[in-house]
Amino acid sequence: MSSIELKSRAKINLSIDVLGKREDGYHLVEMIMQTIDLYDLIEINEKDNDQITIKSTSDEIPLDCNNLVYKAANLIKKTFNINKGVEIHIKKNIPVAAGMAGGSSNAAAVLVGLNKLWNLNLSNQQLEKIGLKLGADVPFCINGGAVLASGIGEELTPIKGLTKDVCILVCKPDLFVSTKEVYEGLDLQNIKNRPDNKFLIECLKKGNINLLATNMVNVLETVTSKMHEEIKDIEKVMLENNALGSMMSGSGPTVFGLFDKEEGALSAKGELLKKYNQVYVVRSSEKGVEVNGEFN
Ligand code: ATP
Repeated sequence: MSSIELKSRAKINLSIDVLGKREDGYHLVEMIMQTIDLYDLIEINEKDNDQITIKSTSDEIPLDCNNLVYKAANLIKKTFNINKGVEIHIKKNIPVAAGMAGGSSNAAAVLVGLNKLWNLNLSNQQLEKIGLKLGADVPFCINGGAVLASGIGEELTPIKGLTKDVCILVCKPDLFVSTKEVYEGLDLQNIKNRPDNKFLIECLKKGNINLLATNMVNVLETVTSKMHEEIKDIEKVMLENNALGSMMSGSGPTVFGLFDKEEGALSAKGELLKKYNQVYVVRSSEKGVEVNGEFN
């Protein structure tokens, strides 16, 4: 029986703008996404029956048909009429329900993994199209890197991303934020501060991280930070420890800071760990999903 293990990486947003709402309820966005080197390990083992089963090191995610990896595997099975089964083991490191696309990234890993395991020979473009049925962030998570995402988040334009010398401190407070509620709380006609994505892309291109960090804007942050004062508290700790800039990712509650010196990131980490459990110093990554080790 064959098996494959994949790295399933998280993302942060360096900007989020919300431009409108489609009739089907999806929001039109324009945002910069960046993959980071914080990943779950997804192990897929072939089984001798046709069932999909899930195991995980995390007790925060469903292990039934509600898990996005189940939905991904089931979609592949149904689309290509496959009568095989798999056991999927999710070793979770990415904070759950955090604004870091953990679930989408796991689904992307299953699409890439099953494409190899079952010799489907699908191109990345075909995988992205299938992934979009599972969620707007799934196509991005397949290839990762840095992109400007528009439409509902599925129209991807690759851009130059953060370089490895930038230290990224990620802090996920122990709060529950409902993405739906955050979007509902956004007054589309009254957004005062929007990101200038063209300018931010230019900053990345020139490697001017200071200018990038001081101009990052996430329009959803105003909504989430009104609900939870922890967002601003975490940003304050990061800035006091010489972060070049600090902002919320996705609809929250994760907050990240960009540092040009690891020293500052480590001292902020020490301070944040007194209050929060999930604090990580990471770097950017140019890859989304990646096969880990040998595929056998
Ligand atoms: P996004 O940034 O795409 O909004 P997120 O980081 O906010 O994603 P996820 O970690 O993907 O959020 O989790 C969102 C919800 O999806 C959680 O309530 C979780 O229970 C559920 N979920 C289903 N499958 C998974 C999975 N494989 N990993 C994480 N969460 C999952």
